[in-house]
Amino acid sequence: MSQPSILYYTRAPIHILPPDVAERIAAGEVIERPVSVVKELVENALDAGARDIGVEVRGGGLRLVRVTDDGYGIPGDELEQAIARHSTSKINTVEDLERLRTLGFRGEALASIAAVSELSLLSRPIETANETVEGFAEVPAPLLIMRGGEVVQRGYRARPRGTTVAVRDLFYNVPARLKFMRGARTEASHILQLMRRCAVGYPAVRFHLVIDEHTALQTSGSGNVVMALAELYQLPLDEMLSPIAATIAGETMLHGFVGNRVLAQNGRQHIMLFVNGRWVQSRALQDALEAGYGKLLPKGKHPLLVLFLDLPPAEIDVNVHPAKTEVKLARETEVAAALTAAVQAALGRSPALPQESTLPGPRLLYQRRLPGPRRRGLHVSESSEAYKAESALPETPLVLSQLRPLAQLQQAVILAEAPDGSLYLIDQHRAHERVIYEYLRSKHSGFRERGEEMFSEAHLLLEPVIVEMKRHQAELLEQRLPMLRDLGLECERFGGLSFLIRSVPGGVGQEQLAGQVRELAELAAEDSSDWEDHLLIGLACRSALRRGRELSLGEQITLLANLAQATTPAVCPHGSPILLHYSRSFLVNRFDW
Ligand code: ADP
Ligand code: MG
Repeated sequence: MSQPSILYYTRAPIHILPPDVAERIAAGEVIERPVSVVKELVENALDAGARDIGVEVRGGGLRLVRVTDDGYGIPGDELEQAIARHSTSKINTVEDLERLRTLGFRGEALASIAAVSELSLLSRPIETANETVEGFAEVPAPLLIMRGGEVVQRGYRARPRGTTVAVRDLFYNVPARLKFMRGARTEASHILQLMRRCAVGYPAVRFHLVIDEHTALQTSGSGNVVMALAELYQLPLDEMLSPIAATIAGETMLHGFVGNRVLAQNGRQHIMLFVNGRWVQSRALQDALEAGYGKLLPKGKHPLLVLFLDLPPAEIDVNVHPAKTEVKLARETEVAAALTAAVQAALGRSPALPQESTLPGPRLLYQRRLPGPRRRGLHVSESSEAYKAESALPETPLVLSQLRPLAQLQQAVILAEAPDGSLYLIDQHRAHERVIYEYLRSKHSGFRERGEEMFSEAHLLLEPVIVEMKRHQAELLEQRLPMLRDLGLECERFGGLSFLIRSVPGGVGQEQLAGQVRELAELAAEDSSDWEDHLLIGLACRSALRRGRELSLGEQITLLANLAQATTPAVCPHGSPILLHYSRSFLVNRFDW
C-alpha cells in the first residue's frame, strides 16, 4: 500500500478547484453523523503522512471530536483556503483521479464540517519544523476558529509539527439532523469501529482513541497487521490467521490475512477490505471472499479477514459514493475470482484450531485499559515475527511430512507430534478422502505421471447391479459412459431406463464401493456442471478409510505421508477440517507453564 511519506514530501498548495471539476466530483451530503467527522479528519491526517494520530471524542462526538496528527501540516497562509469549499491540495483536474494515491480529493470535508459546528484548526507545517522563536519552547502555530462557517477568532498556539482539528457542537445549527442522532453510546461505538478499521488498515500508524476520557483503543504502530489485530482484539490471533497473497493477471497484488474458522463472527464487520489503502464495502467482493470459505464456516457466520488490494488507480473509480466507502473496479469479476481462489488456497493449507472464540464486541468501549501484547499474551509479539514476510504461506505440508504418529483415538483420529512439540489431530477418514480425491483428480485430468497407482483398473462385481434411472438422468448417464469406464465404473445401457453396472474402481475401498453402486450412478447422472467433481468426491468419500477402523503404525505413517503430498491437506473435499492443531503456545497458556 502506498502511504504518503514525509520523506517524499510533495504536497501541492491548496487551491480552489475550477467549477467544472468541482461539479463533476461533488458528493452531496458528506457529514451525516459524528463518525463522518472522525473519518474525514483521520483521512486528512493519513494523507498528510502522519505516523501518530490521536482522536478524542466526547458526547458521542456531538460535543467534541478532536483529531491530532504529526503530519506535514498546513502553511499559515493556506489555513483559510483549507476550509473553503472545493479547495484541495490533492487534485487539479478530473484526470488526476486516475493517478490518485490520497484518500481525500474533493476538498469538501473541512468546509462541510465547519458549516455545521465550531471548528478550530491549528497547524504547524513541516516547513517551520526546525525554526525556533525566542521565549517559546515550540514555534507558535497559526490558529483559526470558525463557527457556522464564519471566522470568529484568529491567533497562535504553540505546538510541534502537525495539525489539530477540533470540532465542537456538531449540528448545533441543524436541529433536524440533531433529532436523528442516536445516543452518545451508539455514536461512540460507530467511531470505535471506524478506528479499528483504521488501525488494521494502517498498522504502521499509532492510533489512540479516547472516548469520554477513557482510552478505547491504542495501537503501537508496529507496522505488523497481526500485531495490530492482536492489540485490538486481545486474542492470540497469530494462531488463527493465515497469510494470504495473490497475483491478479500477473501484476496486481493482494496480501493480507484470513481468519481461521474458529474466528467465525455473526456479522460481516470483520471482513476488512482495503483497496489502495481505502476501506471499502463491496457486496460483490465480500461475497467472493466468503465463497472462498465454502462450507468451512457454519451457516449464518462470517469470517474475519483483512485484505489489502493494490490496483492501478486508473482501474478504480472512487468518485461513486459521498463517504467514499464504495468503489467501482474496472475488472471486478476477475478480482472477485482471484479473491475466492486466494482465500481457498490459504485456508486449504491451515489447520483448524481447537477452541471456539468470539471477538469482544463494542462492550470493550468503556474499558479503561486495553491490554496490549506488551502487558499480556506475550506469545503474540513473539510469534508474529513469523508473519513479517507477508507473502509466505504457512508451511503446513512441510510440518505434515515431519509428524510422528503417537496413537489412534477412538479408531478415528490419529494423534501426532510435530517437531516443535505441538500436537496435531488428524481425522483419518477425511485425510484419506482428501488423498484419494486429489489422486482421482490428477488422474482424471491427465496430470498424473506414471507412479504408484491407488486403484487398479476395475473390480468386477460378483453380480452386476441393475439401476433404474429417471428419463433425464438416463440421457446424461448414457453420454458419460466412456468417462465412467475410464474411472473403472463399467456401466452399460440395459434397455429402457435401466443400466447394468459391472464394476467399481478396484483397489482402495473396493468392497465399500461395491455396496454403494446405486448412489454412484445417481452422482454420475447429476444434472449440474459440477457433476464430475461431485462424482470424484463421492468416490473418494465412499472408498476412504472409515472411522472405527484400527490402523497399524505403518498405516498411520503412510496416510500422513500421503496427506503431506496433498495440495490442500487441511480441508476435506466437502469443506470440513482434517487437522486440528494444539500449538505449543496453546499448551503453555492452558497449563500456565
Ligand atoms: P480533501 O482532503 O478532499 O483535499 P479537505 O476539506 O478534507 O479536502 O481538506 C482540505 C485541504 O486541507 C487538504 O487538501 C489538505 O491540503 C489540507 N488539510 C486538511 N487536513 C489536513 C491535515 N491534518 N494535515 C495537513 N493538511 C491538511
Ligand atoms: Mg479530506
